[in-house]
Amino acid sequence: MTDLTKLTIAKARDAMRKGDTTSAEITQACLAAIDGAGALGAFVHHTPEIATEQAAAADARIKTGDAPDMCGIPLGIKDLFCTKGVPSQAASGILEGFKPEYESTVTSQLFDAGAVMLGKLNMDEFAMGSSNETSVYGNAVNPWRRGNDDAALTPGGSSGGSASAVAADLCLAATGTDTGGSIRQPAAFVGITGLKPTYGRVSRWGIVAFASSLDQAGPMTKDVRDSAIMLQAMCGHDPKDSTSADLAVPDFESALSGDIKGKTIGIPKEYRMDGMPEEIEKLWSDGTAMLKDAGAVIKDISLPHTQYALPAYYVIAPAEASSNLARYDGVRFGHRAKLAQGDGITEMYEKTRAEGFGPEVQRRVMIGTYVLSAGFYDAYYNRARRVRTLIKQDFETVFADGVDAILTPATPSAAFGLGEMTDADPIQMYLNDVFTVTVNLAGLPGISVPAGLDKQGLPLGLQLIGRPWEEADLLNVAYTLEGAAGFVAKPTKWW
Ligand code: GLN
Repeated sequence: MTDLTKLTIAKARDAMRKGDTTSAEITQACLAAIDGAGALGAFVHHTPEIATEQAAAADARIKTGDAPDMCGIPLGIKDLFCTKGVPSQAASGILEGFKPEYESTVTSQLFDAGAVMLGKLNMDEFAMGSSNETSVYGNAVNPWRRGNDDAALTPGGSSGGSASAVAADLCLAATGTDTGGSIRQPAAFVGITGLKPTYGRVSRWGIVAFASSLDQAGPMTKDVRDSAIMLQAMCGHDPKDSTSADLAVPDFESALSGDIKGKTIGIPKEYRMDGMPEEIEKLWSDGTAMLKDAGAVIKDISLPHTQYALPAYYVIAPAEASSNLARYDGVRFGHRAKLAQGDGITEMYEKTRAEGFGPEVQRRVMIGTYVLSAGFYDAYYNRARRVRTLIKQDFETVFADGVDAILTPATPSAAFGLGEMTDADPIQMYLNDVFTVTVNLAGLPGISVPAGLDKQGLPLGLQLIGRPWEEADLLNVAYTLEGAAGFVAKPTKWW
C-alpha cells in the first residue's frame, strides 16, 4: 500500500485486519514522516523505540482476529498527558526533566486498546494560548500557507502540535485537550476534525491541570468517523477522577447513519459578531443550508448571555490555573532555580517560578490570584461564576425547546501569521476563543468540522454544539455536515 501515513484510523484498521498492511509498516512510515518534518515543530519528544515495540505487539494481537479498533494505530500525544517514563512537560520550562512514574488514564486506555505512541506533541505552555507561541520548545507551524506566500502561520493553540501533526500526516490521529477551545480552534486552523466531549466523559487523571472545571481531553482526527472511534477508546468512567461520569458509553461509530431528518439545528443570533469576516458569514450560512438540505429543521435561537462568556472565562480559567499551578514550587516537580548563599524558601519559590514559567503563564497566575484575593473575590470570581450559570441556562433553555444541536463558526478568522499578534493587546489573542469558550463554561460537547477554504486557500471550520452526553447524536450531525461539505483539500508539502 502507498501513502500509509495518509490513512484514516478506520481505513488503517480495516486494512490491517485484512492483512493488507501492518502496524509495523504504518508506524515506520509515520516515524519517517516525522523525521522529515522538523520544520513543523510538531513533535517535541520522539519515542520510536516505544512505537516499534507497541506496533509489533499490535500486529500479534491483530493476527488473533480479536483486536480493538485502535489496535496498531500510530498516534501523537499532546505533551500535557503524563506518559510513564517519557518527558511530559506541558511545554513548560518548569517541568523540564519531569518523567512521570504513571500513565494518564486516557493514554493507558489507548495503549490498552493497542494504540501506538510516536512521541509527544507541541502545545502552548500549560495549554494557555491560541497560537502555540507560548511553548518552551518554540512554535509549532501550520502545514498550510496563504496562497503563494511562504509566511509561517500558526496551527492554532493550545493543541497546535497535535493539529499540525495530523494535518501533515505525521500520525493517524492525536490527543488534544480543550479548556476554552484548544481542540476545536487548532482543528479549524488546519482543516481537521476536533471533538471536545461533555465535561466528565473523559477522565482528567494524569493530564496536567490548567482549569479543572473546564479541561476535557478529546480526539483530533482526519475525519468524523475517526473521532467516533478514538473517543470510544478514550472515554468512560474512571474512579481516579471524581468528576468523571459513571455513564454507559454508547457505540459512537454505529451512530453515524448520516440521517438527520427532523433534527432541529439552532442558529444562535448572538454569534453573528460585529465585524465578522464575510467569508465566515458565508461558511456559516452554507453550512446551515447543507443541514437543511439533509432534512434538518433550522431554527433561529437566542443565547442571550454569550457576550459575557469571554470575560467570565478569563476570570474563571486563570483563577483555577493560579491554584493548580501553585504546586510548581521547585520542590515537587521539575525545575528548581540555582539559589544564592543566604536564599531561603521564599527566594527559592520566586526564582524558580520566575525562571520556569513563561510570560503568558505568569500573566494568568497574576490575574488568577488577583481575582481570588480577599477584596476582589466577590466582584470578579463570584460574579464570573454567576455568569457561567446563566450561560449554561441559555443552552438548557434552547435544548428544552427541542433544539438537538447548534451550528456556529468555529473561529472568527482563518489561521493568522506566527508573530502577527506578538505586539497586540493580549485580549486580541483571547478573542480567538469567542465561539468556543461558551461550550466549556456550560460543560457541553462541541466539534469542529472543516467546511471550506478562505480566499487565501486556508481551511475554515464550523462548530456543532450538542446536548450533554449526546456525543453520538452530535457526531452523526457532524458526519452529515462533513459529507455535504466534502472538504478534501490538503496542504501542499513544503517542509
Ligand atoms: N485559548 C484559550 C486560553 O488560552 C483556551 C486554551 C485551552 O483550551 N486550553 O485559555
